[in-house]
Amino acid sequence: MPFVEERDVVILGSGPAGLTAALYAARANLKPLVLKGIDAGGQLMLTTEVENYPGFPDAVLGPELMEKMEKQAARFEAELLHQEATRVDLSERPFGVWSGDEEWRARTLIIATGASAKMLGIESERRLLGHGVSTCATCDGFFFRGLELIVIGGGDSAVEEALFLTRFATKVTLVHRRDALRASKIMQDRAFAHEKIELVWDSVVEEILGDGQVSGARLRNVKTGEDRVIEAGGVFVAIGHTPNTKLFEGQLELSNGYISVQEPTSRTSVDGVFGAGDVVDFIYRQAITAAGMGCQAAIDAERFLEAHGH
Ligand code: NAP
Repeated sequence: MPFVEERDVVILGSGPAGLTAALYAARANLKPLVLKGIDAGGQLMLTTEVENYPGFPDAVLGPELMEKMEKQAARFEAELLHQEATRVDLSERPFGVWSGDEEWRARTLIIATGASAKMLGIESERRLLGHGVSTCATCDGFFFRGLELIVIGGGDSAVEEALFLTRFATKVTLVHRRDALRASKIMQDRAFAHEKIELVWDSVVEEILGDGQVSGARLRNVKTGEDRVIEAGGVFVAIGHTPNTKLFEGQLELSNGYISVQEPTSRTSVDGVFGAGDVVDFIYRQAITAAGMGCQAAIDAERFLEAHGH
């Protein structure tokens, strides 16, 4: 049998949740192993300036913030590997964690694998991402002051983004592919009542227009087949998020794909497994809330190890 290393804490993911968990676990002398994942650094790697992370009065670039978090965790001897967990076995402790052929045993496991914003999947969206196409109004809305904007989607996220953007935009056009919103009644009422929000029903975005910077979008009415162009300085895609939980299906309790935790703790349905950040949280989804949850998960793991005589 090949030697399999046993660790007190293994952390999956390296966004704000994973790296804060690593920092706390490392400072508790637990020498955590972090499998950073393929998209190391998480969603902040896709943003530019972060103006709402406390402690950075002059803003900080998303990738720079993640680099600082990683350095801080590494300073206390967290071991960070640029590898992705490809399989886990949560049926007994210590848990099995694999990255390809490599295997570890984990006395506790912190899952901070995040969520990915769903995208339309069209070429112009990819090309203009970060140049007027965004998936986060809270992060980027401030940069779109005085412009007309488009929000795509019909759920609570889309309506919430549209309402938030009215603070900056002169007009927000909410484009939905059906003739009824999926969002909760109260959110719908707010959208309908808002003088800056216009709804465009039964329409899909065929192309986001712009040469280097978004200038509008070409829509197609799915009922009539008609095309129309709307001018806009920004397009916010708000068609939902996919939590990265495929690995845990059938092994952990999930709710709508997100990991269920026993609030206010980070404990999951399996003793010794903890969840933190966007893989758990479909409501707040902020770097600072994810970092806070990472801290909670590390403290929960530390107490679990203590209670189990480690
Ligand atoms: P969601 O409820 O799944 O809604 C996604 C929306 O995007 C739907 O209207 C869907 O259209 C549309 N859509 C999906 N794929 C599309 C595509 N390829 N092209 C065009 N449109 C597309 O996602 P969500 O709004 O992110 O909400 C997720 C969960 O979080 C929900 O349970 C929600 O209640 C909750 N949430 C709550 C709050 C709050 O309480 N303040 C805020 C945000 C989210 P269809 O309607 O046609 O399917």
